[in-house]
Amino acid sequence: MSDERRDVAERLREYPFELTRSCHTDPLKWVGDVMYDLMDIAGVCEDFDSLFGALADLIDPTCHMCPAHAGGFGCDRCFTWFPDTETKPSFCPSCGARVVTGDE
Ligand SMILES: [Zn+2]
Repeated sequence: MSDERRDVAERLREYPFELTRSCHTDPLKWVGDVMYDLMDIAGVCEDFDSLFGALADLIDPTCHMCPAHAGGFGCDRCFTWFPDTETKPSFCPSCGARVVTGDE
């Protein structure tokens, strides 16, 4: 598991729900603030449209293995080249991301 995934998981587990809830009288405003905190934890700043994709990438990181001109394959996530690899692997041997094709 990457450091980023571990850090996000730790921040989610330690999120102070009771503390943040006690600061609000309007439950909808509290939920809104929790969403902003979640966007911060997921690293998307205030880009709500990117939140679900960022969470999906943390849960199930994916990559593409692209055939290299010099032979083998290259990972487009960690940019590692595997010159002796003849068949596309199911997972990147370097970063561990699941190899997908197209826009999966
Ligand atoms: Zn990789």
